[in-house]
Amino acid sequence: MIWYKKLEINLKNLRKNFRALKKFLPKNTKILPVIKNDAYGHGLLEVAKTLSEEGIFGFGLSEPEEASLLRKNGFSQPILFLSGFEKDWLPEMYNLKVIPVVTNFDTFEWLKEFVKKINIKWEFHLKLDTGMHRFGLNFSELDQFIEKLKSFPLLKLTGLMTHLSCAENPEHELTQIQLKKLKEALEKLKNNKIIPKYIHFANSGGIIFLPEKGNLVRPGISLYGGYPNFKARELIKLYPVMTLKSRIVEIKRLKKGEYAGYGPNFKAKKATNLGLVPVGYGDGYLRSLSNKGFAWCKGKRVAIVGNISMKALYLDITELENPQIGDEVILLGGKNEEVPADELASLAGTISYELFCNLGKSIPREYI
Ligand code: PLP
Repeated sequence: MIWYKKLEINLKNLRKNFRALKKFLPKNTKILPVIKNDAYGHGLLEVAKTLSEEGIFGFGLSEPEEASLLRKNGFSQPILFLSGFEKDWLPEMYNLKVIPVVTNFDTFEWLKEFVKKINIKWEFHLKLDTGMHRFGLNFSELDQFIEKLKSFPLLKLTGLMTHLSCAENPEHELTQIQLKKLKEALEKLKNNKIIPKYIHFANSGGIIFLPEKGNLVRPGISLYGGYPNFKARELIKLYPVMTLKSRIVEIKRLKKGEYAGYGPNFKAKKATNLGLVPVGYGDGYLRSLSNKGFAWCKGKRVAIVGNISMKALYLDITELENPQIGDEVILLGGKNEEVPADELASLAGTISYELFCNLGKSIPREYI
């Protein structure tokens, strides 16, 4: 038995978010939800099933284990590994019908070697590094790449993609540079009679903020109810998919001047009631929220005080009316977004993605 704590995953809200994003897209735009890392901690299969019912093009992943799990469970849509691949993944990727994403000359050579060896044709997408300097073929190497590709007809380029560093900030010079380079790349391909069927660069931020979105988009965080930035809240209404709930399991009544927790990192400035909640960094709750975070209890926002420990944190419940052991606490999300993930994340100096991924791998999930 573990202390009462659960992650509620609201699949209805996942659908709502998907539909809200769709409103930003021209009618025939294809959607490739990014469900890597166990769907950002929300559960790969449940998320895949829900989104499949909504109508999607395929899935964005990063590793073969998750592709294999999808295939074993009957998902037949295209799968793209968005960050390239290892050489020894290729046989499995081929069996799993994954579309490889080439990110440099090495991955291209591995792919060539593989298709030549077993004498097959295979489609692939090219990921171009247009300025983020993460995964992707250097823009300056594109001409050389095109020459190599032209002399190797077993491989067909069906998609051109790039990843934007700050799509949620369309005015940023880097966004402008990246989009310009992508356009130039398309011209170069076209001049060589290579016409990729799919052009994709828009993540959640791109979908919400960019006027042009390509004909395939790759939303991640927004599907899970996370806003790419605070400004996005003015443009789209998203609903929390992940809610973390627990209970008050102990109440400590401190006199002015008394301490609480490790360090000790809390000293009562006045008589203070503390509610102990059995969730800590061992459960994926960020310790950096010590003395900074907040939760929701009995209709009120309550502050996290003192140092968060492995399996517990304190809430200042002094202002609550008649708090009791057993009172429910929302530590993230909530029906009416009582604890917004972006706000909490920013207090911890991080992003909602990290909160979701950490909690998702640590706390039992319940689907609603
Ligand atoms: N596309 C690529 C290549 C990514 O790496 C990611 C996320 O990491 C996404 C799309 C989805 O981005 P977001 O979660 O910001 O929508």
